[in-house]
Amino acid sequence: MFDTLSDRLSSVFKKFSGQKRLTEENVQEGLREVRLALLEADVNFKVVKQFIDRVRDKCLGQDVLKGLNPAQQVIKIVNDEMIELLGGETTGLDLRGQQPYVIMMVGLQGSGKTTSTGKLANHLRKSKMRPYLAPADVYRPAAIDQLKTLAAQLDLPVYDSTVQMNPVDIARNAVAAAREQQCNVVILDTAGRLHIDETLMQELVAIKEAVAPQEILFVADAMTGQDAVTVADAFNNALDITGVVLTKMDGDARGGAALSIKTVTGKSVKFVGMGEKLSDLEVFHPDRIASRILG
Ligand code: GDP
Repeated sequence: MFDTLSDRLSSVFKKFSGQKRLTEENVQEGLREVRLALLEADVNFKVVKQFIDRVRDKCLGQDVLKGLNPAQQVIKIVNDEMIELLGGETTGLDLRGQQPYVIMMVGLQGSGKTTSTGKLANHLRKSKMRPYLAPADVYRPAAIDQLKTLAAQLDLPVYDSTVQMNPVDIARNAVAAAREQQCNVVILDTAGRLHIDETLMQELVAIKEAVAPQEILFVADAMTGQDAVTVADAFNNALDITGVVLTKMDGDARGGAALSIKTVTGKSVKFVGMGEKLSDLEVFHPDRIASRILG
């Protein structure tokens, strides 16, 4: 998904390779192109500004990187800042305290929430956890059936929710049922809407208060670019999310969401969805993504 950005950046770096040293002039000119490349990749403009300022300061105040030529110096600085932009260290799930742990999945309809719930269960089972699935999206009847089907495919227990039930009761009862069945992690699929609305947020806050989840993962569709970042910010303000699952990274999204979410919300991307299959979930490694972008 970062192909265009990657191509643009490598042509900027090529220009530096003919230079003997970094001057204010060639740095300014190079960074103007980096800035355009990031904006074209749909990165939030405030994020771009911060990024460029930091890279410029480092390039011009440089005496640490002796032994590297100008192109290598710029690449090293951009790489380090890109890793920071993407969230720094890899942040996995932080599951501590009383079991069963609860992971609450939130996000807009169509973002890939239900699919990611199944993928995450599959991922956790591989690391010897015993997941229990809980469908709490009572407004989209197909969502309950979809998660029950995924549970059957994975051969995992699932709470027998119906559309008549109250989502807060589903959450509470599912945690109790998981405990009885000796499952140690409940993954709760909540309702989404096409747009953020107050009723949805209140319901999600009520679920959060009822079951005190260790993780609240906001599921964002990478294809929606800056909208994903705005919506992530709104969910974070209401729910204090603990991380993000960025779906549809296998598509031709320009990368803006991946590059903006951490700076805008302060919350890290923890997983990425790379396809529709249950195995298409990967842990998000900022350093690997940065080196993919920088070639
Ligand atoms: P929900 O309404 O948020 O629960 O969304 P769903 O889980 O039903 O997903 C909506 C659509 O996106 C479905 O067709 C999924 O197969 C698809 N989808 C989800 N995650 C990914 C992904 O990582 N890559 C691709 N290509 N499609 C995905």
